[in-house]
Amino acid sequence: MKLQFWGVRGSIPSVVNGDIIRSKIKKVLSCASAGDILDDQSIEQYLDSLPPSLISTYGGNTTCLEIRSKNNDLIIVDAGTGIRSLGNSILSEGFGTGKGKGHILFTHTHWDHIHGIPFFVPLYIHGNIFDFHSIHQNLEKRLAYQHSKHHFPIPFEGLKATKRYHEHKEEEKWEICGIQISQKSVKHPGGSYSFSFEEDGKKLIFCTDAEFNPQTIDRSIESYLDYFRNADILIFDTQYTLAEQIQKIDWGHSSASIATDIALKSNARKLILFHHDPSYTDEMLDQVFLRAVQYKSVFDSQKKSNLEILVAQEGMNLQL
Ligand SMILES: [Zn+2]
Ligand SMILES: [Zn+2]
Repeated sequence: MKLQFWGVRGSIPSVVNGDIIRSKIKKVLSCASAGDILDDQSIEQYLDSLPPSLISTYGGNTTCLEIRSKNNDLIIVDAGTGIRSLGNSILSEGFGTGKGKGHILFTHTHWDHIHGIPFFVPLYIHGNIFDFHSIHQNLEKRLAYQHSKHHFPIPFEGLKATKRYHEHKEEEKWEICGIQISQKSVKHPGGSYSFSFEEDGKKLIFCTDAEFNPQTIDRSIESYLDYFRNADILIFDTQYTLAEQIQKIDWGHSSASIATDIALKSNARKLILFHHDPSYTDEMLDQVFLRAVQYKSVFDSQKKSNLEILVAQEGMNLQL
């Protein structure tokens, strides 16, 4: 399996504005020595030596993940604004001429997970076939609602691709293109589902919009640990800091410290911090990362775990 992140934010897209770009440029220039900017090569080397948050951004689009099976079959998870660029990127794979086929899974239908649908070009092209999967009921009605003339100029019927709906039951397991899929309900207002993808002994868990609360985690976590167990990649909702999460009980999100604790307890190999708060700057996300690494060293003081922690970034590619 391969995966690529197209949207990593939660709640609402968050743009890098002119002030932020100016401040990044100022820091880059103030750190540079004369030897760093001698020629193209030295400039490239200098830029490569800087943290990604200084020369780039973790990204501002809302949730969208692309998964490819070993045969390159396409599975998309959630249709936040990140799906717009994903859609444009696959037009050359047959989706531009109505010969594309893919699956879209929905964790839930909060708008940050569906509001890229009206801008997903392959859905407008006759001949393409998309299979929509959800555990929530009435997915078609929920998606069509945002195409009401009050919200968007093009009606849902204007999406000319063939749309097939699959409503799965709680705890149901199924297979897409050789990938075994299972799911588990997680605490979130309106309900949300985590997905597990397994192919050739490799396991990817996508667990966003999921509240694992520091005050109740000891009581509730056991039933989840088996489901998370031995994930090669665990993508986890870390929208809040621990201090914020304590203030925002029942808002439906988790923190990097809880995610790190769960990743260690379930023996994950790689933890990806995900669903970044729209108010967090790239520098703040660096701090979230550093705190998660510190938590890991406290929880795993004997260094028994090989857990690697990463911050989800738009464009990030990973292979399992
Ligand atoms: Zn969300
Ligand atoms: Zn949500």
